[in-house]
Formats: sequence, structure tokens, C-alpha cells
Amino acid sequence: MNSGSWLNPLLEKRCSGTEGCGIFAKADIRKGERLAIFGGRIMAIDDMYGIPAHMQRFTMQIEERFVLGPVSDIPEDTDFFNHSCSPNSGFSGQVFLVAMRDIGAGEEITFDYGMTVSESVGSDMVFSMNCACGSSLCRGTITEDDWKLPEIQDRYRGYFSPYIQEKIDRMNGGPLGTMVGKDTIIPEDKEAGSPV
Ligand SMILES: [Zn+2]
Repeated sequence: MNSGSWLNPLLEKRCSGTEGCGIFAKADIRKGERLAIFGGRIMAIDDMYGIPAHMQRFTMQIEERFVLGPVSDIPEDTDFFNHSCSPNSGFSGQVFLVAMRDIGAGEEITFDYGMTVSESVGSDMVFSMNCACGSSLCRGTITEDDWKLPEIQDRYRGYFSPYIQEKIDRMNGGPLGTMVGKDTIIPEDKEAGSPV
């Protein structure tokens, strides 16, 4: 069963014995072009323990407490985007992957897992991964706290998963953009709904 993820037809999965699998460009791609739309099953983070171990890495965090998980035991091509500390793609919304710059035919498509992962409040699930991506910017270890690094916040502004961008805005002095609406509307709703 397919989860309905979409992969730009200009991309393909390629595998090698030494490097594993990744997603590569078959043709030149322009900055801003949509590369993939991730589908799947919405799962609470702790429910990841309930899926087969070999599938747990094919989940993507989309909110503090939720991940997009697989719908079957068979991975899809969109599960094979690798991490890089110097990526050429980033997020536009929770599930749209877009090109951050022009990408040449033959290049591997990567994003920085720090764009999507954060600590999950109330869960003992912790994300940490060794990285040897070869970039001069390589952090060595990718963690759920990387979004807190000022240089990461600057480099990926506009390309974080929106829930992480909201956390960044809150961390850096508070409500910006849509957060203003959320912070003010929620108390007003409670007020309106409470008995007088
Ligand atoms: Zn790296």
C-alpha cells in the first residue's frame, strides 16, 4: 500500500553498496521547485515504538508530539532523502520539500534533519544521529536541539517546518507573524466559552 507521497518525476532513488540509497536529480532543477510532498500516517511520537524497527527511521516529525509515519512495512522513494549539514532543499510547510537553490543534474537531494526535529515534550523519544556528510559545516552530531543554534536559524530561515519556526520566533523574543493571532485568539475563545 502506498501512502500517497509524491516525488517530482525529475528525481529518482539511486542505491549503491557503499553509500546506501538517496534521492538524486535526473535533470537541472530551479530554486523554489517543489521536490516532494510527504504523505503517511499521523502518529503520536510514542507510537513509533509500535512500528517495525526497520521502519522507525522513515518517520518525519511534523509537530512537537506528532510524526508522519509509514502506512506499511515497505518504504517509499520519498523515505530516502538523506540528511546533509549543507543541504540543497528545505521545507515549505510541514510536508512540502522545495529546492533552496538551483540544483544540477546528478546532484543528491538532501535536507537538514534539524529543519524538522525537536524535543518532544512529555516523551522519552530522543533524536540524535552521527553525521559524516563531508560538508565543511558538518555538525558531527545531529540532535533535536540543533534548531536552537543561531547560525542554523539564520541559514534555514523560511525553510524550517512551521512548528519549529514558531518555536524559534518564541525563543527570540516572542510572538511574530501568525503567533500573534494564536496567542491572542486562544485566551479570547476560552473567555467567550466560560460561564458568566
Ligand atoms: Zn554533517
